Amino acid sequence: MPNLEIITIGTELLLGEIIDTNSTYIARTLRDHGIDIFRITTIGDNTSRIAGAIREALERANIVITTGGLGPTIDDPTRQAVADATNRKLVFQPNLWAEIEHRFRDYGRVPTENNRRQAFIPEGAIQVRNPVGTAPAFIIDEEEACVVSLPGVPREMEFLLHESIIPYLSRKFKLNTQIIKATVLHAASIGESAIDELIADLEKMSNPTVGLLAHPGQVDIRVTSKAESELEALQLSRPVIQEIRLRLGDHIYGQDEETLEFVISKILNRHQLRLGLVEFGLEGKLTERIKTAQSGDICSKLLDECIKDYSEFEKIIQEIQKKNYCDFWFGVSLDLKAQNLVHFFFKNSNHKLSKTRKYGGPKEYVPLWAQNIGLDFLKREIINSIEKDKIGEK
Ligand code: ATP
Ligand code: MG
Repeated sequence: MPNLEIITIGTELLLGEIIDTNSTYIARTLRDHGIDIFRITTIGDNTSRIAGAIREALERANIVITTGGLGPTIDDPTRQAVADATNRKLVFQPNLWAEIEHRFRDYGRVPTENNRRQAFIPEGAIQVRNPVGTAPAFIIDEEEACVVSLPGVPREMEFLLHESIIPYLSRKFKLNTQIIKATVLHAASIGESAIDELIADLEKMSNPTVGLLAHPGQVDIRVTSKAESELEALQLSRPVIQEIRLRLGDHIYGQDEETLEFVISKILNRHQLRLGLVEFGLEGKLTERIKTAQSGDICSKLLDECIKDYSEFEKIIQEIQKKNYCDFWFGVSLDLKAQNLVHFFFKNSNHKLSKTRKYGGPKEYVPLWAQNIGLDFLKREIINSIEKDKIGEK
């Protein structure tokens, strides 16, 4: 299987002025075509450093893809760097120049001498036509390896990758059509290390692979299969997904795009139940998440002060309850003075509950953690209310 290194070019990437989304996009796209990616490098607009990076990458990889630095100005160094790295001269391509002139004429402009630079590409390079921009892209095709130079503008890069580069790579490396399919299970109210203990044996498998990614208040478990078709990949993943669901039980709340708020909204809609929310200290984020999933109709109140005990919570909902009937009430209040303390309240017509939780991680994650923990708590209490208190049985 061929392997790939990506080199993104541009001083503004190094200075942190723009975020490198090109390499993520290329890595993800080519990974799905069965290409292994080994390394991503970012280099400023410096010809010799770029040439050095390409030379080194070619010692390790079959495919080197660069993005950026193909524009018409002197600080667009990629053409020269690729030529140097592959011991070629830059040669003028009359047909490229004619195309550039033509495109400028279409816009009622005349190309400058600078634009001529773009008509030079390394000797023997395969031209890659760029109908969506001005910078021509090219491929240096060598026996075992290749260097592909694409423009930096993401829209142009993506277009050329799909239109020209993937077909070229498929031919050259006789890529099998193996695809990679990932399924993500979402878990809450259980930590990463506890999950790790429960599924350690599955995490050692090679196809599918199983990996964990922890977020504040929530953990993702990714099951990734490689196969000839999507169906086959899903068949490989299915027993492993079932096994994880079995071992983690109701800690798993959803799969792929299913969020906690989506799951809650589905239950509320199915049983035609109404939820009331009271929130402090989370900038309305919890309410917003439920409203987005529930497309609107939620009775909610954002408070000016932190509530810490049940009687305060009850007083507030008694006020709101006069005008709005709700089957459930849920309150979340982040104690801004003791920033990692969050108070949760729940009430239905039969029972009430409150609890306080403390977060052990970095302060900036407290709000997201509180939302996720809160939504998971709410989901469990709604399910309990329906099953045990028979609320919502119509
Ligand atoms: P142009 O002809 O437009 O100058 P170029 O190939 O020279 O094309 P750059 O000048 O390096 O490309 O980048 C053009 C723009 O594309 C940048 O200003 C930036 O907005 C975006 N860009 C470049 N590289 C990346 C990257 N790795 N990830 C995301 N965006 C990028
Ligand atoms: Mg440029």
